[in-house]
Amino acid sequence: MSTVSTVNGGISFWYADRGTPIAREPLPGDSTADVCIVGGGYTGLWTAYYLKKAVPFLNITILEANFCGYGASGRNGGWLYNGIAGRDRYAKLHGHEAAVRLQQAMNDTVAEVVRVATEEDIDADIHQGGVLEVAYTPAQLARLKDFHSVEIAFGETDRVLRGARETGERVNVTGAVGSTWTPHGARLHPVKLVTGLAATVEALGVTIHESTPVTAIEPKHARTPYGTVRAPYILRCTEGFTANLKGHKRTWLPMNSSMIATEPLPRSVWDAIGWEGRETLGDMAHAYMYAQRTADDRIALGGRGVPYRYGSATDNDGRTQPATIEALRDILVRLFPVAAGARIDHAWSGVLGVPRDWCATVTLDRSTGLGWAGGYVGSGVATTNLAARTLRDLIQQDSGQSGPTELTTLPWVDHKVRKWEPEPFRWLGVHGMYAAYRAADRRELTSPRPGTDPIAKAADRLAGRH
Ligand SMILES: Cc1cc2nc3c(=O)[nH]c(=O)nc-3n(C[C@H](O)[C@H](O)[C@H](O)COP(=O)(O)OP(=O)(O)OC[C@H]3O[C@@H](n4cnc5c(N)ncnc54)[C@H](O)[C@@H]3O)c2cc1C
Repeated sequence: MSTVSTVNGGISFWYADRGTPIAREPLPGDSTADVCIVGGGYTGLWTAYYLKKAVPFLNITILEANFCGYGASGRNGGWLYNGIAGRDRYAKLHGHEAAVRLQQAMNDTVAEVVRVATEEDIDADIHQGGVLEVAYTPAQLARLKDFHSVEIAFGETDRVLRGARETGERVNVTGAVGSTWTPHGARLHPVKLVTGLAATVEALGVTIHESTPVTAIEPKHARTPYGTVRAPYILRCTEGFTANLKGHKRTWLPMNSSMIATEPLPRSVWDAIGWEGRETLGDMAHAYMYAQRTADDRIALGGRGVPYRYGSATDNDGRTQPATIEALRDILVRLFPVAAGARIDHAWSGVLGVPRDWCATVTLDRSTGLGWAGGYVGSGVATTNLAARTLRDLIQQDSGQSGPTELTTLPWVDHKVRKWEPEPFRWLGVHGMYAAYRAADRRELTSPRPGTDPIAKAADRLAGRH
């Protein structure tokens, strides 16, 4: 396998596949709107979509620093699935039943994204094969079984546990000793979804200005170098880039995630691997990997790599570190030795937003009209849609058009969390945590014991994850 010809960056493989779009016109000067959305990723676009569908005469402006889908929404692994960051903590804070409602809303959200994509004629290579998560060490198997039981306790009664043989019949992951599968997931092409959404909202009458970085968000004002948009509601939908905004350096930590995509693999390789159901595929490692079989028969596989850049810096148009490309390639070959000769066509990275308590949130501050959603910690492809429908309901409630709804009473609404530590503690903490996860993963690979390695447990506690 060679990485000599690997394209590194260029935003993502998904853009290499579709072509990088020409940016829409920037903001021409000062203007007004009913709702101004900062950030043209899934969160911003879905929010515009649902608001406009609910109130067609609403004047909505999206301000996007680059072009719609420049961020994680144009770079992700294409796992449309029902995981939401923070559910277990919300169960502790608000009770089990509240968290079950949140989980149910997420299960429904996967179906909702598929429904809208179909209705709006957005062809995003969606394949509803569910989510398969595999274990290949005794410790991973023990975690997998615990995970499976917990998910069932949160109402996922259609989730199944599979043994080694059954797992291998689905996807032939070397050394897999078991797996869990849920139907609440689909594989998709991230860029086809985000560009389709942008075109859809524009056709509905939403104004999109690209190449327009917002330099400050204040009540009723979004300021840019080209002018200021005044609106009663300003929604911050900048997720992993939030740290770049004035006053938000320590709000959400920009965590890196990196991916590689192989060349299209030949029939002989697929005969050996199987994966005919095109499930999204993950593992139970602490520094876990996520993968999909693309519509054109590549494997796109991601993982953490270098987790965080000092000072909350973000990447340069998706470039990742050569060592990360090697590490992801090693994972690919360990899982699928039969793909060892495949060319790695593309490698890239992106940032996702991590709050200090690792809980996704959606909020509308009624006193200022400022709203935001994010902190999805890498589970945002579906969660952004739930966040958007919730922001719609919160705005409608605030403007007197409706009362509380099922969505506005979910436990992640209006959740508050403290900021991250200043540097160098932030950098030391995150790098220490991932060094511990990697050490734990290495030890679990050779350990016959079923328990999670104590180093990983300590890292979880220190990071405030559990
Ligand atoms: C490599 C990678 C793989 C992932 N894989 C998965 C996956 O398989 N499944 C899953 O569920 N989740 C995954 N995620 C997470 C998921 O992609 C994100 O949670 C989701 O896309 C977030 O959408 P968003 O709209 O909130 O943010 P983004 O898509 O990051 O959009 C934010 C937008 O705001 C713009 N912006 C930033 N600052 C400003 C400013 N000052 N002014 C104007 N505009 C600004 C940016 O240019 C960007 O377009 C992954 C993330 C990464 C990075």
